[in-house]
Amino acid sequence: MKNISDYLWVVISAMIVFLMQPGFMALETGLTRAKNSINVAIKNMSDFILSVAVFWFIGFGLMFGTSFHGIVGSSDFFVNFEQNDWMAAFFLFQAVFAGTAATIDSGAIAERAKFSTYLLMSFITSAFIYPIFGHWAWGGYFYANNAGWLQQLGFLDFAGSTVVHSIGAWVGLSGIIIIGPRLGRFSKDGKANKIRGHNLVFAYFGVFILFFAWFGFNAGSTLTATTKIADIIANTMISAAFGGITGLFISWKFSKNQLPEPESIINGILGGLVGITAGCYYVSAVGAMIIGVVSGLIVYFGALFLEKLKLDDVVGAIPVHGFAGVWGTIATGIFIKENFLLEFGITRSHQIMVQLLGATTAFVWAFGVSFVLMKVINKFVPMRVSSSHEEIGLNIAEHGASTSIFELSNSVRNIIEDRNFKNAEKIEVEFGTEIGELTNYFNSMVNDLKEKEAEVEEALESLHHMAVTDGLTQILNRKKITEILGNEINIAIDYEKKLSILLFDIDFFKKVNDQFGHLAGDRVLVDLSKNVSSTLRKTDYFGRYGGEEFLVIMPKTDLEMAYFFANRIRAKIETMRWAFSDDLTVTVSGGVVENSGEDINKMIHRADELLYYAKENGRNQIAK
Ligand code: GH3
Ligand code: MG
Ligand code: MG
Repeated sequence: MKNISDYLWVVISAMIVFLMQPGFMALETGLTRAKNSINVAIKNMSDFILSVAVFWFIGFGLMFGTSFHGIVGSSDFFVNFEQNDWMAAFFLFQAVFAGTAATIDSGAIAERAKFSTYLLMSFITSAFIYPIFGHWAWGGYFYANNAGWLQQLGFLDFAGSTVVHSIGAWVGLSGIIIIGPRLGRFSKDGKANKIRGHNLVFAYFGVFILFFAWFGFNAGSTLTATTKIADIIANTMISAAFGGITGLFISWKFSKNQLPEPESIINGILGGLVGITAGCYYVSAVGAMIIGVVSGLIVYFGALFLEKLKLDDVVGAIPVHGFAGVWGTIATGIFIKENFLLEFGITRSHQIMVQLLGATTAFVWAFGVSFVLMKVINKFVPMRVSSSHEEIGLNIAEHGASTSIFELSNSVRNIIEDRNFKNAEKIEVEFGTEIGELTNYFNSMVNDLKEKEAEVEEALESLHHMAVTDGLTQILNRKKITEILGNEINIAIDYEKKLSILLFDIDFFKKVNDQFGHLAGDRVLVDLSKNVSSTLRKTDYFGRYGGEEFLVIMPKTDLEMAYFFANRIRAKIETMRWAFSDDLTVTVSGGVVENSGEDINKMIHRADELLYYAKENGRNQIAK
């Protein structure tokens, strides 16, 4: 019979173990890049809720239900504990364990695994892979005389170095083999490139939480309130400490920079925690210390080993949970205290063999099943995201969730690619953060540059206008109108098109100036230009050739036609009236020529001669 303190201890332990979920979330999001952090967090949350559901309706029954020949549980699906409070406490504790097993692979395959297929893998892990192996090792934990075959052989895994941690890691191993390394993790020449996590402080925070949650994980596994919990927690702490110390010094000595690496310290701690999980109840403090040190070494060199094999385990989940899990399981046989051996009636070497068998079985089972299943799934639905999704990051690709830092870097990239600021949009500011401040500066900088760019564009436009326009009359200037004439002559010659021009000059303009003043003369030039402009056809060009001399270019127009238009212009000018004098009549004389294949100088010269002739002949007329 369980008493109230047993209930309290197990339920409180379960709640403490629950904290492994936020612990893993913080660890994994911290060790991944910002563009994937939200995805990693969502995966951590989702695999937990999914595994609770799945463990409730099938996993628990397979693991702890009435044993079918020590192979699989066969009762208590859709666990109902209305008549049995202890079952509720036990289920609660086991459900958070299942959740832990299911979440381990998320860190290994982070940053490139598709969300949907990840959920499917979590489902399979908590529905079958974890509970069936769990039955073999722990099947007799709820019902008496219900032990699975490994448990019957005397396999010892107190809180799950193998049952929980290695099983999770081996699923992750299948994942990283099938999904492949992240883009850029290994260069073409085989060189391994480190991809830095975006928030190591957050990862450290996660490990503090995990460290704490592990006390509940290991000591809660007594499943009764006993004084042994103190011993278990002390061993857990010692192993973790020595694992961390080993990671610290080993990286200080052996890492590329010969500095204590942040990742090596936390992974050493986690290795020590995983390592002691199997034997925390059975070993002495010295045993725990040795388990911790060796775990630290195994995790450090295990990660390098995976890298050599070109396997990309983002957070080091496989060395931590897999390799250190195997070590901890075997070490339980090595360091188990004499009194336990006497109690179990087993020799040390026999115990070690059983431990080895259990760890190996876990590998064959979890790796084998998950590998085959993932291979099949991957055939139908690729488990990996597309490379473009991997590049923009899973936060956006898989969840449509953006971050300021992403938008900022995107905007900078677009500006660099477009080489202008026109399309740069204002980025949403995350208030009260460093990135928010940076975004603010960036927004105002882009705004300034946009304004500057607009000013420059305006200035260029007016420069261009000034370069081709006559300042007084606002029609084309001499430079531009002759340039156009040159082009039109080329076109006319090349395509055998007609081209005519009219050169005209105001008659007795000096008199206008003398009689009414220079300003009145200017007025005449301006009004006359406007008037002629409105008379012209769309295809004609009109420019000021000299002081009061104008040039009209008429493409695709023969001499007769040009002569007709020229006279129209002349007649129209004659009818013009000016405000400064009621009776002033301004007339012009002009010469019209059609291009005969000659160059610009000759053509203008001919027109000029005809203009001169028109003047001689009595003015206010066009000569051709
Ligand atoms: P003609 O019929 O022989 O052409 O007689 P004209 O008086 O027009 O003689 P000419 O072509 O030699 O004189 C041009 C005059 O036009 C001289 C100059 O003072 C005047 N003029 C040239 N440019 C401008 C200008 O921009 N504004 C004003 N008000 N007068 C100008
Ligand atoms: Mg004149
Ligand atoms: Mg003149």
